[in-house]
Amino acid sequence: AKEAGRNQVQFYEEAMHARIAERALIEAELRHALAREQLHLVYQPKLDLHSGVLTGMEALLRWQHPTLGMVSPARFIGVAEETGLIVAIGRWVLRTACAQTKAWQREGLGPLRVAVNLSARQFTDQALIAEVRAALDDSGLDPHCLDLELTESMMMHNVELAVAASHNLKQLGIALSIDDFGTGYSSLAYLKQFPVDYLKIDQSFVREMLDEPKVAAIVRSVLTLGHSLGFKVVAEGVETEPQLDYLRQQGCDEIQGYYFSRPLAPDAFAALLRQRP
Ligand code: C2E
Ligand code: CA
Ligand code: CA
Ligand code: CA
Repeated sequence: AKEAGRNQVQFYEEAMHARIAERALIEAELRHALAREQLHLVYQPKLDLHSGVLTGMEALLRWQHPTLGMVSPARFIGVAEETGLIVAIGRWVLRTACAQTKAWQREGLGPLRVAVNLSARQFTDQALIAEVRAALDDSGLDPHCLDLELTESMMMHNVELAVAASHNLKQLGIALSIDDFGTGYSSLAYLKQFPVDYLKIDQSFVREMLDEPKVAAIVRSVLTLGHSLGFKVVAEGVETEPQLDYLRQQGCDEIQGYYFSRPLAPDAFAALLRQRP
């Protein structure tokens, strides 16, 4: 038993060292990722359930590393946040997404609203407003075509500050979404103070709603809550037709998910836009 215990400790330490080494490697490599042009964006369409029209897309970050291969955001966004690298990376994401969207609009591929994920670090950064304005000015993108996705934890961490930051962003004329709604803590009393346009129901609810009556009840409550506060409600992670049918029947406004399309590289996304009426 003693022997087994020692092996377990050793195993635990090795696993921990492996995690620390992986994190150090990711951090070191991430420092060069922007300059070495290893980062790129993919775009996942959002579909309006009332009209059936593709209304826009979410820009999602990808990191293609020469030896690590494709590193998923789950592995590097946290490191980027902790090190502060997310500020420079986030600025690049914002500028690239605005410029790409404007280029597609110039081609006549539709009005298109592009959603960009903000990290907590960016949201509380003093320079954020100036950066968003610069991204809009430099690209020529209409502010109404930009949508910034925030999470509940970012908004509830310091409500007063977050409400002020949200109002400042809204004054630029852009849209705001609350991402992963229902997974974090959010006070309903505070929610009404935020000038938000969209609530995004987290994919974990969408995944379970047709098997779990209680999850379906949560989804319906979020739809009612969102609509009564004047928000549009978007469901993410929609993978099947029955999920889509249920959401449409319950009055959900927009969906995003593999059922309609996976996130696409720019060429593939443009091809999708061209083949649509
Ligand atoms: P998120 O903002 O909640 O993005 C949705 C995630 O769900 C994406 O994962 C997307 O590829 C995935 N997804 C979309 N449809 C489906 C579906 O039908 N089924 C399933 N199972 N998954 C689906 P991804 O691209 O790996 O991104 C993960 C997270 O990384 C994002 O979650 C977001 O929090 C973060 N992230 C991605 N890009 C950025 C960025 O540019 N900036 C920041 N700050 N965070 C980002
Ligand atoms: Ca998002
Ligand atoms: Ca989400
Ligand atoms: Ca998520």
